[in-house]
Amino acid sequence: MYDHILIRYGELALKGKNQKTFLNQLVKNIKELIKSETGEEPLIETEQGRIFLKLNGQSPEKYYEPLKKAFGVLSFSPVRKTELDMEAMQKTALEEMLALDKKPATFRVTVRRPNKRFPVKSPQAQKNIGAFLLRNYSGLKVDLHSPDVEVFVEIRYDAAYVYTRKINGPGGLPLGTGGKAMLLLSGGLDSPVAGWLTMKRGVVIEAVHFYSYPYTSERAKEKVLDLARVLAQFAGEIKVHIVPFTRIQESISEKCYDSLWITLMRRFMFRIAERIAEKRNALALVTGENIGQVASQTIESIYAINRVIHTPVLRPLITMDKEEIMNIARNINTYDISIRPYEDCCTVFLPKEPKTKPKLEACEKAEELLRVEELVQDAVQNTEVITIKGKAEDQFGYF
Ligand code: ATP
Ligand code: MG
Repeated sequence: MYDHILIRYGELALKGKNQKTFLNQLVKNIKELIKSETGEEPLIETEQGRIFLKLNGQSPEKYYEPLKKAFGVLSFSPVRKTELDMEAMQKTALEEMLALDKKPATFRVTVRRPNKRFPVKSPQAQKNIGAFLLRNYSGLKVDLHSPDVEVFVEIRYDAAYVYTRKINGPGGLPLGTGGKAMLLLSGGLDSPVAGWLTMKRGVVIEAVHFYSYPYTSERAKEKVLDLARVLAQFAGEIKVHIVPFTRIQESISEKCYDSLWITLMRRFMFRIAERIAEKRNALALVTGENIGQVASQTIESIYAINRVIHTPVLRPLITMDKEEIMNIARNINTYDISIRPYEDCCTVFLPKEPKTKPKLEACEKAEELLRVEELVQDAVQNTEVITIKGKAEDQFGYF
């Protein structure tokens, strides 16, 4: 029976003196993700470059989902712990083979020996274990290149671990080790992916959504909250700041040339997101912008939009192809939500011919006709914040 899950955390090993902080955060995150998924407090130990989750008689499967969501986890394996003794390793390897769902025809043994004090070197240990399996498991052949099953034996300091499965984690860095950023979350395909990629680098995110009720429906808002709920599964919870945007859009469409609408709206979004970021101690904004994808995402328009704020803007998708973005969206389960048909606030005020190369001076001139500061303050003051939990009920409130 499996008694532990062995968890690998690649990139952390590179982080020198920060390693301890990173490891502590990773263990804390794993515990929280497991607790919110299963309601249980898991038993976790760390040992020289590995994390061990003690199964205590439980089956390992129920931990797979939370571990796949823990940024910083490179991969993990359900393992059998055994003594530092050749014979014990052979028997345990045989047990592992006998417990496989499908009987393999070919196999190989791969030994790692971080414990250099163990007297049998890896190639010899591989031979010993392989020979034992050939003798005791009928109809089996060695295939070093593409075996049906690879039996791994990791000879560590106080024990050895035997396993045949390696499941990929998300990689990246533990959430909470990279500060905080404010994600501009629309209902589209791109911004949830941008948020996920940012979280993957250890950055905690909160989200801002600009909402144009009654031009957009309650369902459009639900869609955004559903996207946040998917992201919250990786984080435990995410705060979503819902900004009333209708008055701003009406003012823009009333007073300004329609070719500039999109750029002007985006400039307001950035200003407001920056204010909310400051309130919430977030040091960067994140968007799903992608060069050339739509009129508002040319270099000229990114320049004109970016000029209204000082906060750095992270754009994780900036050079990606649509196909790459869609693949990530499918993997993280945001795709099906994003393609729901509800309109977002920008499609409602869509100009006939948006400028692909808006001029900064033209934007500044147009804004002379608007009460920019008053509109921004009003929107920030009337922002509603919703805390989305990965699992439990959402919590509503105002800040
Ligand atoms: P997405 O797929 O994320 O909606 P998009 O390709 O539709 O992006 P745009 O509509 O130009 O591109 O939006 C660019 C970025 O601006 C979005 O990725 C998002 O970060 C932000 N944004 C757009 N609309 C909103 C909104 N209503 N609320 C919050 N952020 C928004
Ligand atoms: Mg969009």
